[in-house]
Amino acid sequence: MSRGNGQDHETRFERARRAMVTDQIARRGVRDPNVLRAMSRVPRERFVPPDSVDFAYDDRPLPIGHGQTISQPYVVALMTEALELGPGDRVLEIGTGSGYAAAVLAECAREVDTIERHEGLAASARARLAELGYANVRVRVGDGTLGWPEAAPFDAIVATAGGPTVPRALLAQLAVGGRLVMPVGAMKNAQTLVRVVRTFDDRFEEDDLGGVAFVPLIGAQGWEA
Ligand code: SAM
Repeated sequence: MSRGNGQDHETRFERARRAMVTDQIARRGVRDPNVLRAMSRVPRERFVPPDSVDFAYDDRPLPIGHGQTISQPYVVALMTEALELGPGDRVLEIGTGSGYAAAVLAECAREVDTIERHEGLAASARARLAELGYANVRVRVGDGTLGWPEAAPFDAIVATAGGPTVPRALLAQLAVGGRLVMPVGAMKNAQTLVRVVRTFDDRFEEDDLGGVAFVPLIGAQGWEA
């Protein structure tokens, strides 16, 4: 931004965002330039409650109401990188929350469909994403464990809440060659981040991306409410 003295100044948020990308994300090994660019473009301070804006770029998740959280920036970057997105890809996200990860995904892909079970969170995320100009994101209220069958298949699917297993409906809605990333574990508050690649119509390959702690995925093919 250019000010009266002719010098370029960063706002405090832009400075904090740049430091976040360098210190929390690139330093921990995220390399995909599209992901780093997306993380340096999305204004995270617009996705947190007003009393949390000073902490928007902290290296941790933050509460967003309804007992839910906006994920730690590094985890958003790690999951987005693991999806190996290309500019023509269509993505399904389960767990819109604040809409922050949907905006990061929308910077890296063609279209993002995102599902949130809390109507209030979905409404605020939808308004926020529209205000910021993310015309390639659709937000729906519902049980994301069942996916979005009318819009399938998806090149990439990401769940930002942890379930006991990968929902069958999501595997069925993944395109051949598609990537799915989600936290999976036998406990409601600690999981392993898994990536599943659909290599053929009837073949899925899974690898493990490390330990994480997400809120539970509640639904017909997740945990009971
Ligand atoms: N991606 C979000 C962001 O960027 O702010 C963070 C999401 S938060 C960690 C997980 C979200 O998943 C919560 O908002 C929760 O309500 C939602 N959720 C849990 N189970 C769900 C389900 N079956 N369908 C849709 N959303 C679900």
